[in-house]
Amino acid sequence: MTPSPSERGGSCLCGEILFILKGEMIWCSNCHCTRCQKGHGSGYVTWLGYEKNQITILDKSENLKWYSTSKKSEFGFCLACGSSIFYRSQKVPLEIHVTLANLDDSKNIYPSSDNYFDTHVPWMKIDKTLPKRNDPNL
Ligand SMILES: [Zn+2]
Ligand SMILES: [Zn+2]
Repeated sequence: MTPSPSERGGSCLCGEILFILKGEMIWCSNCHCTRCQKGHGSGYVTWLGYEKNQITILDKSENLKWYSTSKKSEFGFCLACGSSIFYRSQKVPLEIHVTLANLDDSKNIYPSSDNYFDTHVPWMKIDKTLPKRNDPNL
């Protein structure tokens, strides 16, 4: 799968799961929730929001598994390498969220807000200019 200029490609660490995103993203935000921190081993995770019909996932060895982070929400991760790259939730049933860091080329994409900021870690530098929200209900 080679993305066209209007598409963005990405993968997990080992490359068993590939994806292509078509068209414009809906949003890009940093998530400081404790599930993202523990699930990704990171102070926060920068997510892209897309509509489900904009993503094509190639997972020929069936390595994509879904882990329930709550009653309504799941992280999608690679069984082979452990990369956690997707999020889906019944709260936003038409959307799929993709980690910005798993795109092959993330230039010119910047987050526009900090979400679940009430649980942000004290040891990472924060962009003070971004709007802060505590619970956007994602
Ligand atoms: Zn993998
Ligand atoms: Zn989160």
